Amino acid sequence: MTLLYSEPVFLHHETGAHVERADRIRQIPQRMAAAGLEQRVCRPEWKPATLPRLRLVHSGAYIDEVWAFAKSGGGYIEHDTVVSPASYDVALAAAGAVCDATERVVRGEDRRALCLVRPPGHHALAGGAMGFCIFNNVAIGARVAELELGVDRILIVDWDVHHGNGTQGTFWEDGHVGFLSIHRWPFYPGSGDTDETGAGSGLGATLNLPIRFGTPRAAYLDAFRAALHQFAGKIRPQLVFISAGFDSHRLDPLGGLGLETEDFAVLTREVLDVADAHAGGRVISVLEGGYDPPTLCDCIEVHLRAMVEREKDDNPPI
Ligand SMILES: [Zn+2]
Repeated sequence: MTLLYSEPVFLHHETGAHVERADRIRQIPQRMAAAGLEQRVCRPEWKPATLPRLRLVHSGAYIDEVWAFAKSGGGYIEHDTVVSPASYDVALAAAGAVCDATERVVRGEDRRALCLVRPPGHHALAGGAMGFCIFNNVAIGARVAELELGVDRILIVDWDVHHGNGTQGTFWEDGHVGFLSIHRWPFYPGSGDTDETGAGSGLGATLNLPIRFGTPRAAYLDAFRAALHQFAGKIRPQLVFISAGFDSHRLDPLGGLGLETEDFAVLTREVLDVADAHAGGRVISVLEGGYDPPTLCDCIEVHLRAMVEREKDDNPPI
C-alpha cells in the first residue's frame, strides 16, 4: 500500500481569496474514490509535529511568533503569506504528517507515502514565513530522518516551479542531505542559479536546474532525467523526498512552465526508479504548489497512480 495523508484538517488553514486556498485540495477525496485509488492506499493516524521537531529547522522565536500571530486573529504574516486563527495548528498537522510518514517509511511499514498537506513548506525559512509557506514540512521530515532515525544519506527532489529556497538554506552545509531543484528561472524567489551548490561539508550536495520560460517539455524532462540519475548516483540516498509542486503545469496561473498532466507521471516514475535503485524504494512525497484546482486534482491523480502502480514491482518484505 501507499500511505496517504489527506484529511479535512488541511482545509482549516483559511486564506480567503488567496491563490493558496483550501479549494486547491477540496475535491481530492472524491477524485481518489472515482479514480479507484482510495482502496489502494492506507490512511494512518498521526499526531501534530512536536516543538523539538519544528526546532530542527525553525528558530524558537519564529515558532512563537507564528503561534502568537495566529492566536491574535492572523492576517498577512509577510507580504505573500496568510495566517488564519487555525493556521498554527494546521501547520503542525502538516509537518506532523510528514514526520509520521518518515517514521513509517524508514521503519519499513510501507515504501511510499504521499502527504497532501497545506500550508506548503519549501519557501519557509529558519526564522520566517515566505511564499505561502509557514513551516518547512519536507525539511522537518528530512531532519527527523537524519537526526532522529539515523538515515545517513537523503535526497530531496523539488520539482515545484519555484526554487525551494527554504529547503536549500536548511541543508546548505549538510553533506547528508542532497537537494535537487528544477524550477523556472529567473523567477520567484530569485534564487536557484547553477552556481548555488552548497558550502562546507554540503558543498556539491545542492544541484539547481534553472529552466527558462518557453523551454519545450521534452527538454525539461530530459534535463530532469539526466541530472536526477547522475546526482542520485553521487548522493546514493537511503531515503528520497519529493517536494511535489504542480505549478509548472501549462494551465497553472502562477507557474506556467508548459508541462502537461502526464508529464508528472514521468517525473514521478523517474524518482521512483532512483528510489528503487538506491533506497529500497523508499519515497515520501509532499505537496507544495499547484494553483488551478481542477488541474491540481488531475496531477495528483497521476502522481499517486504512478506510486501505487509501483507496488507490483516490489519485492516482498524480507
Ligand atoms: Zn511553487
